Amino acid sequence: MTFLPEAESSARRAPAAGGRAAVVIVGGGWAGLTAAVELARHGLKPTVLEAARQPGGRARMTPFDDLHLDNGQHILLGAYRSLLRILQTLGVAESSVFRRLPLELVLRDAAGADVRLTAPSLPAPLNLLSGLLTATGLTLFERLAALRFVARARRDRFECAPDVPLADYLHACGQPPALTRALWQPLCLAALNVPVAQASTRIFLRVIRDAFFGARRDSDFLIPCADLGACLPRPAMDYIEQRGGAVRLGARALALHVRGGAVAGVGLRNATLAATHVVLAVAPQAAAQLLHGHAELAPIAAGLDGLGAQPICTAYLRYPEHVTLGREFVGALDATVQWLFDHGRLSGRAGLIAAVISGPGPHMRLAREALTERIVAEIARLYPAWPRPLTIKLIREKHATFAATPGVDACRPGPVTPVKGLWLAGDYTATGYPSTLEGAVRSGLVCARHVLESSQ
Ligand SMILES: Cc1cc2nc3c(=O)[nH]c(=O)nc-3n(C[C@H](O)[C@H](O)[C@H](O)COP(=O)(O)OP(=O)(O)OC[C@H]3O[C@@H](n4cnc5c(N)ncnc54)[C@H](O)[C@@H]3O)c2cc1C
Repeated sequence: MTFLPEAESSARRAPAAGGRAAVVIVGGGWAGLTAAVELARHGLKPTVLEAARQPGGRARMTPFDDLHLDNGQHILLGAYRSLLRILQTLGVAESSVFRRLPLELVLRDAAGADVRLTAPSLPAPLNLLSGLLTATGLTLFERLAALRFVARARRDRFECAPDVPLADYLHACGQPPALTRALWQPLCLAALNVPVAQASTRIFLRVIRDAFFGARRDSDFLIPCADLGACLPRPAMDYIEQRGGAVRLGARALALHVRGGAVAGVGLRNATLAATHVVLAVAPQAAAQLLHGHAELAPIAAGLDGLGAQPICTAYLRYPEHVTLGREFVGALDATVQWLFDHGRLSGRAGLIAAVISGPGPHMRLAREALTERIVAEIARLYPAWPRPLTIKLIREKHATFAATPGVDACRPGPVTPVKGLWLAGDYTATGYPSTLEGAVRSGLVCARHVLESSQ
């Protein structure tokens, strides 16, 4: 693995691109790195430019005391097939980076009342249906209503046209408010990072389809047990560099060069990198900045301006080592904190608890100390026997995901642009998925395929 700050790297030439195509990938998040890995697998030698000092983008390792943590707690699904395939390509064993847990949800309120859904080991979707029917903490009426929702979604072929807020669809399916509070709202925030009142029904239904109507293992949760850098970013860098490509950290692309309707290269602070293909794999706000300067790309850039951003907060709390949730993760109802993860059980770091708040809310306006205090107090209400945490690290990612609101698909560009050789990758592109690692990986694979096909 190399570390080439821009000043140093810009003095060097782009690596020869296998005599076929000079490919520059702007952005070393999961989308850009996946595109580069796939190209390297096919014998090309891409150059990845990453503005930050480390790879991974919105899913990266961040240090805390003596620990390697992530910039935000992530949770994945067994349905993330493209991501699992790219890990195989990299030689990363799933079990070395993820804990796989069969579908089981426990959500707790301050009164200690748990809602518990456990899916038995049956083929999908019978596991979900049986889990809903036998869920505890819900009335029979609520459980039957949940089954009605699933039946309706299936009858609608997991489509909703025109797209409407999920709250409207839930209402049309006769979902009682208590069920929305205990099940749909937490699931929607976890999957789309948007509350049901604003969430896209289309995108939510796709997640339901992929998680619960494929193979049984698709609904498994995969929770990182190593830092996110070890999952894909660092192995991807090694893979790319071992095959003659390069990953340049601290190298920010400042301009796209277009000549005669075709991409010509990428401008850095001190140099220009010539390219026959550029994969722009940065977040939508950064992509818009680079696209705006070109008349033929302005409509795409304008569309990206219409994609809202949603925050996610993660607080890592270090308690004495005996403190444990008793399970890997637990949902919290009627609180600012939505999910708690026990890193003692997940990654052997006893006493380390991650608290997650997805989506927008008044908590984003609180001062750091006030929000931290609120989180500590809410956890104390859920687990009164716990002592105060010893240390806390709060990470607020204001642009964690795009806002998966109704009609958002219309703002999401595909990989192809009007400029020859310029491709768009990233979780925000038209993957059909919400802002997820799977969406990012899929988009990278699609771009790599375009580059390979058009450079033959
Ligand atoms: C706190 C948090 C929690 C999340 N939880 C989950 C979860 O539980 N499950 C899930 O699946 N997803 C989750 N996500 C979303 C997931 O992390 C993203 O969908 C994914 O990381 C996006 O990857 P990307 O490659 O498309 O974009 P990015 O990660 O944004 O990568 C773009 C890269 O481009 C670089 N860059 C930008 N401008 C330039 C430039 N001009 N030149 C060079 N480089 C540039 C950036 O530094 C960045 O590294 C979460 C995100 C956050 C922030």
